[in-house]
Amino acid sequence: MVETYSRSYAQEMDARDDLKQFRDEFYLHNESIYMDGNSLGLMSKRAEKSVHDILDSWKNYGIDGWTKGEHPWYYLSEALGEKMSGLVGGKKDEVIATGSTTVNLHHLVATFYQPAGKRTKILADALTFPSDIYALKAQLRLKGYDESHLVQVESKDGNLLREEDIIDAMTDEIALIVLPSVLYRSGQILDMERITKAAHARGITIGFDLCHSIGSIPHDLHNWGADFAFWCTYKHLNGGPGSVAGLFLHEKHFNVSPGLAGWFSSAKDKQFDMDHTLTSADNAGAFQIGTPHLLSAAPLIGALDLFHEAGIEKVRRKSLAMTDYMMELIDHELEGHGMVICNPVNHAERGGHVYVEHPEAARICKALKLKNVIPDFRTPSGIRLAPVALYNTFEEVYDCVQILKTIMDGELYKQFENVRDVVS
Ligand SMILES: *Cc1c(COP(=O)(O)O)cnc(C)c1O
Repeated sequence: MVETYSRSYAQEMDARDDLKQFRDEFYLHNESIYMDGNSLGLMSKRAEKSVHDILDSWKNYGIDGWTKGEHPWYYLSEALGEKMSGLVGGKKDEVIATGSTTVNLHHLVATFYQPAGKRTKILADALTFPSDIYALKAQLRLKGYDESHLVQVESKDGNLLREEDIIDAMTDEIALIVLPSVLYRSGQILDMERITKAAHARGITIGFDLCHSIGSIPHDLHNWGADFAFWCTYKHLNGGPGSVAGLFLHEKHFNVSPGLAGWFSSAKDKQFDMDHTLTSADNAGAFQIGTPHLLSAAPLIGALDLFHEAGIEKVRRKSLAMTDYMMELIDHELEGHGMVICNPVNHAERGGHVYVEHPEAARICKALKLKNVIPDFRTPSGIRLAPVALYNTFEEVYDCVQILKTIMDGELYKQFENVRDVVS
């Protein structure tokens, strides 16, 4: 029996890892330990190849690339939607690759926020990513309401939300709810099924931001009955910086008029009729606006193939084993250093990263980077560490915690100022 806190234990876990062959699919930086895949996933060889494939079709076919080649551009957004549908638990035509996270949120709110009578407010939470809040406030203003119409469920401890508090806030003044699936800071998973059922029991439309859960945990959006969802593809999905985002529209809404319509909202066979009356697609494709960003969609072809081969259930199993292991090591090795693990411990409530707080977090992160560990810092005192199932190893988790221990033991962070960089 190998001792849990030894390097050989980590090596043994790696030897038994049934996803270990995927590490070779990625461009790793040999000298560093990448723990930031929840902010920007690493580049894979498949993603690189699929970018070249799309460039080749432009080179070889010109305008005919829309219908020719291995990945005809005209159908690529739908094809990528289908590839993502299993990851969110949607039917294949309930998912489309389009836009960006924030644009898709705008589009969905422009469509589903229909204030009427007493129901004029939007419900969100106080911990979500700022872009979501800016978009919700902007949508309220467009409909003639001020910010008092945005209700944000507060957190008691600044890191976690209580589902009871969310449900209690679902009053008869709420027209629409938008919540994250996994909180970007603490990594808490909200029980989407429970919250969706509570919203629908009160006659409220609800959608989720899956940026921190897609590619990290399984979802069952169709069966849960969620009205809509949206997500980015550059975090756990490894689609590359600014890669085209995703959108889920439950089939019960296939007849809805897209709030920000454009010619790519059209039914595919009608689009080139050039009619001034839109016949929108009778699926999630209606939420496209204009010409798809082919060069930013291209890497997703290869990136998503890796998820199909690995399977999200296996990805989740390994991710939980790695975050369990990391927390155990932090508890054991960093005792007395004031590191507080603030992510939920229960598997059902924990997403794909570990979140620790320390008053010196900004400069601890700088010291980690100097020692070739890539974390990310979240102001004012958060350190996120994401061991990613497809490319990180247990031994890297071991090394990461050992390096953190060296930094804390030797107070090596004191050579830096405790302020964040422009991009952190
Ligand atoms: C990363 C992230 C975003 C980013 O939005 P973009 O439009 O892709 O820049 C939005 N919301 C959440 C919850 C995120 O984690």
